[in-house]
Amino acid sequence: MTKTPTLAVWKFTSCDGCQLTLLDCEDELLALAGRVRITHFAEASSAMDPGPYDVSLVEGSITTEEEQRRILDIREQSRILVAIGACATHGGIQALRNFADVAEFTSVVYADPEYIATLSTSTPISAHVPVDFELRGCPIDRRQLLDTLCAFLAGRAPDIPNTSVCTECKRRGTTCVMVAEGIPCLGPVTQAGCGALCPAYHRGCFGCFGPMANPNVHALLPILRVNGMDTGDIDRVFATYAAAAPDFANRSGDESA
Ligand code: SF4
Ligand code: SF4
Repeated sequence: MTKTPTLAVWKFTSCDGCQLTLLDCEDELLALAGRVRITHFAEASSAMDPGPYDVSLVEGSITTEEEQRRILDIREQSRILVAIGACATHGGIQALRNFADVAEFTSVVYADPEYIATLSTSTPISAHVPVDFELRGCPIDRRQLLDTLCAFLAGRAPDIPNTSVCTECKRRGTTCVMVAEGIPCLGPVTQAGCGALCPAYHRGCFGCFGPMANPNVHALLPILRVNGMDTGDIDRVFATYAAAAPDFANRSGDESA
């Protein structure tokens, strides 16, 4: 008799939104539960079976020494490790600390900052252990999550695009909000996968899927300026979801330089 594959879901520094995407799968979750044995998923179940695990989904970034140790252990016990969401793939919103004085933050926020044990950085899972696959987004896209889990169960590669969000606007027939409405948009440099959700609702892309492969960020900067963004706006939008991503963080400073 073939052994049922095991699935574990882990949380690091994060908001739980990506784990909720798995619970959000509703109908598909029942079918999935019939194909895998969920052995560790603290968000949804009190069952916490020991490893090893066939597939581990890892949400969140590494921000403490305890997390640095825990991810090593999880990697050791996992045949396939998938980092899920902007926190796990790029350090998340909390990576803003990488460019600030964390000691000052804790002294301002906490009455007794000496009890706070935290690193001065928020880093992606791949900075600590080898990662087999990454699912982008804040939160991740449920269709991509299901495709990835099905792919690993079937022994095939996940069918995840690495083109820009612009390709998804074209595919769904959305008129470009930057060209037609003058709304600044990070879609030309952001990895596809959300289905161009924000432009479909007349909003520019905020880059929550992080940089696409080989993004031409330098060429986009003057277009963002023409469409109303100043230097502060540009700094903020690139630092929002993927502050630790080198392609967004090291964007040649300024296009006028
Ligand atoms: S990527 Fe976004 S939704 Fe997912 S855990 Fe991080 S903050 Fe939450
Ligand atoms: S709206 Fe944004 S993502 Fe869509 S085509 Fe225009 S620039 Fe690209």
